[in-house]
Amino acid sequence: MAQERYDWASLGIDVTKPSIARAYDVVLNGKDNFEVDRGFVHEIVKIIPEIYDVAAYNREILGRGVRFLAGEAGLRQFLDLGSGLPTVQNTHQVAQAVAPDARVVYVDNDPIVLAHGRALLAENANTTVVTADIREPEEILAHAEVRRLIDFDRPVGVMLVGILHHLHDDEGPQRIVETLMDAVPSGSHLFVTSFCASSQEAVDAERKYLSLLGTGRFRTPEEITAYFDGLELLEPGVVPLPLWRPEGDVPAELTVGHRLMYGGIARKP
Ligand code: SAM
Repeated sequence: MAQERYDWASLGIDVTKPSIARAYDVVLNGKDNFEVDRGFVHEIVKIIPEIYDVAAYNREILGRGVRFLAGEAGLRQFLDLGSGLPTVQNTHQVAQAVAPDARVVYVDNDPIVLAHGRALLAENANTTVVTADIREPEEILAHAEVRRLIDFDRPVGVMLVGILHHLHDDEGPQRIVETLMDAVPSGSHLFVTSFCASSQEAVDAERKYLSLLGTGRFRTPEEITAYFDGLELLEPGVVPLPLWRPEGDVPAELTVGHRLMYGGIARKP
C-alpha cells in the first residue's frame, strides 16, 4: 500500500517492528498501520479471537468515562496519557460535546501520534498533542505545552487508558500514577484501564505481547485496584470494562474478551 512507500524513517517511525499505537490502530480497524503491525495482531487473534471486540470495549468505556468526568464530575481539563492515534470519538470530542470549553492535552511517545494528531487538532485551540514518555512524569508535568492548557490549581482528569500494561514492573507504574496524582488538586480524577490476567488466554497473550512487542504486563484485579490507593474509588469499582456504568445491555455471561481488560475511575479527596 501507499503507506509503505513513504520515507517513514525521517519521521522517526520504524516500520520493521510492531508499535503499540499502530497495533491498536489495527484492532480499531484504522489505516495507520503497517504489515508488521498486522502480523502481530494476527498472532494475538490466534489466542484471543475477540481482540477486536476488546479494543471496542476500551473505546466505549473511554467514551462513558469522559462523559461522566466532563458531566457529573464537572471536569474541564483532561490529561490523556498514552492517547494513541486519533480515532472515532477522541477524548476532546467526547469532552467538548459535554463542555465546549473543555481542554485536552494528549500525550504519547509514538511519533506517529504527533504526525496525525497535529493535522486533526490544528483547528481546535483547546486541544494539543505532546510527544513525551510517561516513564518521565515530571517532564510531562513541567512541559510548556501541558502548562499552557492545564491549570494545576483546578481539578484535572488524569487518563491512563490502555497504557499502564505497557510498563514493566521495574519501570514503576505505581510511582508514575502517584507522581501525576500528587501534582493535581482535590477533585481531580484518575481513570485507568488495563489488561488483566483474568484467564489462561490472557496469560498466553501476555507471553506473546512480551516476545513480539516487548511490553504487555497483564496485571491482577488487585494490582490494578492498587493504582487507586489513596483515592476514592467510584462505583462500581475496578471491573471488567463492559460492567463499568454500562449504557446498554450487559452480557449475561462474561467471555474471555469481556474480562481481558479491567478499569475504573477514582476521585482525589
Ligand atoms: N488511550 C487510548 C485508548 O485507550 O483508546 C490508546 C491506547 S493504546 C493501546 C496505548 C498507547 O500508549 C499507544 O499509543 C502507545 O504509543 C502509548 N504508550 C505506550 N507506552 C508509552 C509511554 N511510555 N509513554 C507514552 N505513551 C506510551
